[in-house]
Amino acid sequence: MTYRPPVREQLFILRDVLAVDQYAALRAFAEAPLEVIEQILEEAARFTSQVLAPLNGVGDKEGCTWRHGGEVTTPTGFKAAYAALIAGGWPALGAAPQFGGQGLPAVVGVAFSEMSSSANMAFSMYPGLTHGAYSAIVNGGSDAQKALYLPKLASGEWAGTMNLTEPQCGTDLGLLRTKAVPAGDGSYRISGEKIWISGGEQDLTANIVHLVLARIEGAPAGTRGISLFIVPKFIPNTDGSLGPRNAVVCAGLEEKMGIHGNATCVMVHEEAAGWLVGEENRGLALMFVMMNEARLGVALQGVAQAEAAYQAAAAFAKERLQGRSLTGPKNADGPADPILVHPDVRRMLMDARAILEAGRALLMWTALRGDLADHHPDEAVRQAGEDTMGLLTPVLKGYLTDRGFSICSDAMQVHGGAGFTEHFPVSQYLRDSRITLIYEGTNGIQALDLVGRKLAAKGGRAVMAFFAEIDAFVEAQAGDGAVAPFVEALAGAKAQLQEATGWLMQNGLANPDNAAAASNDYLHLFGLTGLAYMWALMAKAAGARIAGGDADLFYANKLIVGRYFIERILPDAAARLAKLTSGSATLMSFPAEAF
Ligand SMILES: Cc1cc2nc3c(=O)[nH]c(=O)nc-3n(C[C@H](O)[C@H](O)[C@H](O)COP(=O)(O)OP(=O)(O)OC[C@H]3O[C@@H](n4cnc5c(N)ncnc54)[C@H](O)[C@@H]3O)c2cc1C
Repeated sequence: MTYRPPVREQLFILRDVLAVDQYAALRAFAEAPLEVIEQILEEAARFTSQVLAPLNGVGDKEGCTWRHGGEVTTPTGFKAAYAALIAGGWPALGAAPQFGGQGLPAVVGVAFSEMSSSANMAFSMYPGLTHGAYSAIVNGGSDAQKALYLPKLASGEWAGTMNLTEPQCGTDLGLLRTKAVPAGDGSYRISGEKIWISGGEQDLTANIVHLVLARIEGAPAGTRGISLFIVPKFIPNTDGSLGPRNAVVCAGLEEKMGIHGNATCVMVHEEAAGWLVGEENRGLALMFVMMNEARLGVALQGVAQAEAAYQAAAAFAKERLQGRSLTGPKNADGPADPILVHPDVRRMLMDARAILEAGRALLMWTALRGDLADHHPDEAVRQAGEDTMGLLTPVLKGYLTDRGFSICSDAMQVHGGAGFTEHFPVSQYLRDSRITLIYEGTNGIQALDLVGRKLAAKGGRAVMAFFAEIDAFVEAQAGDGAVAPFVEALAGAKAQLQEATGWLMQNGLANPDNAAAASNDYLHLFGLTGLAYMWALMAKAAGARIAGGDADLFYANKLIVGRYFIERILPDAAARLAKLTSGSATLMSFPAEAF
């Protein structure tokens, strides 16, 4: 079974649901009319399914190898695939033209990244993190830093990493100890140990640009004393050629449950030369630019692994013969029916589709808001786009990775015992996807970010705008019988989310444990409402095609999956509301010593 990139689904979202051609006046979109986007996605499908997917199992079995001195070798074939990635110009897709990028909309980049991550998540993390480093320097770097680093990062010739985590400091970055001492020549000497650094060392690129959080000597304790530094593996000369080797070394690799093809490194900085990005003690804010982008990338990994696992499960369910359909044989000439006839097997596959199709739409819808935030001439639209991105980032990261992992688990269930063996790819999808719930801030931390920061930010402007947008959509559909069930379902979910938001305002302020105890259910209720919105938009778009005489079953099937979402996924919203409004008293009353 080979991975088939969902180009048709992505084009439906871009063309019919988001109608991206309406933004042709914006520069990024002017470069990419729909026919061009279609060609790019077809080419991306070929590259990811033919070059990256065949290496997924190889990377899983071989993993990366570390040698004394700190050299790391990636799995067989990764180096050639990386060269092909650069030759194809894929890393440059979304980068700015002045740094050699193609300047295409992020929403197109998301479509490519989904395919690349489904095909080979471990491989795709190398260019994924590079793009995050690129964005952090775009936002905070000096002109000289931009000129020196951005073209090489945009092309993928050099890679980027994120160095936050230390043995004593994961979620709580205030505990960070890596120190920076001014060297007197404008640079700093960075010393400390960073752990679990993805792509910290590899043999794919000529140079690696580490973005490192460290505390300048004498800086305040806690998060207010953290600065961001560029620490290159090879210190570049001003013309971009490689200079001396810097004192940052990979001291070892982690053995881990999945993503074996991605090197997870212990990085030791021993008075390594580093250059401050932005202002002293303002590093965390800049790193957040990188983290927010990475969080959307991780949400996408959740969808991508689940899509690949779903495809494997659907193919298996059509071939595996066991038992007979309860309503009479469907494969009378064979010894048994394919397991796809069994309602319980269908339930798992339909759950996957109902979440994946809308999850993909929600990711692309959010990426489009990011494009508007970056490119729209109207300040109000830019601002609204930024608000939505901020609000939705923790929802997408938390909800889509939680659900992505459970879809991978169901996909294994569809395989029966075969899924638990390594003869089928689903075991790797399940193992690889598990990290998505943990890194870039655990899902618990995403939920806290949502209720603690994002809801209240700017007087609740973002969430109120989200509600108003849904209200306006619901109102505009009045009288359209074809979409009525979808619109009613959306209105119901939104009402529950609004009730939950009101409950949080009242009870969370009085007792912060109430807000924290509610946060996971609130994030899921938000995710469900987001998907309900996407299903309403997709049903409207598919319905319009059908009403226009399009007999392609793609559209009729879309409506079936949408109805399934309303009947069998969305009812979870009520349970989430009931749970979150129960408060924290019972949860917190259980004595610590009794655990
Ligand atoms: C494969 C892999 C790759 C990684 N790549 C990178 C990388 O490239 N760069 C990098 O810097 N880091 C990286 N990390 C680190 C990763 O981001 C952290 O593991 C993650 O942020 C969680 O930190 P922690 O593991 O220290 O968990 P902890 O912070 O110890 O958390 C443990 C548990 O407690 C919960 N918790 C902690 N604090 C709170 C709180 N205040 N309220 C409620 N719950 C709380 C957490 O949600 C979690 O469930 C990687 C990790 C792995 C495993």
